[in-house]
Amino acid sequence: MHHQRLMRHGDPSIVRPRRVKAIADCKWVNCAKEAVTKGYCSKHYYIQRVMTSV
Ligand SMILES: [Zn+2]
Repeated sequence: MHHQRLMRHGDPSIVRPRRVKAIADCKWVNCAKEAVTKGYCSKHYYIQRVMTSV
């Protein structure tokens, strides 16, 4: 099984990072979570969307 050799080498994603975009923090005040959508984390993107749509 060749995947056993892979495990010995550690996480292959470290050698070949999938993320090209730099990780940004959520724009929300006092939120240090990773931004996933339009500069907000998933929770604050939802809150922000609800607020702006009213
Ligand atoms: Zn947030």
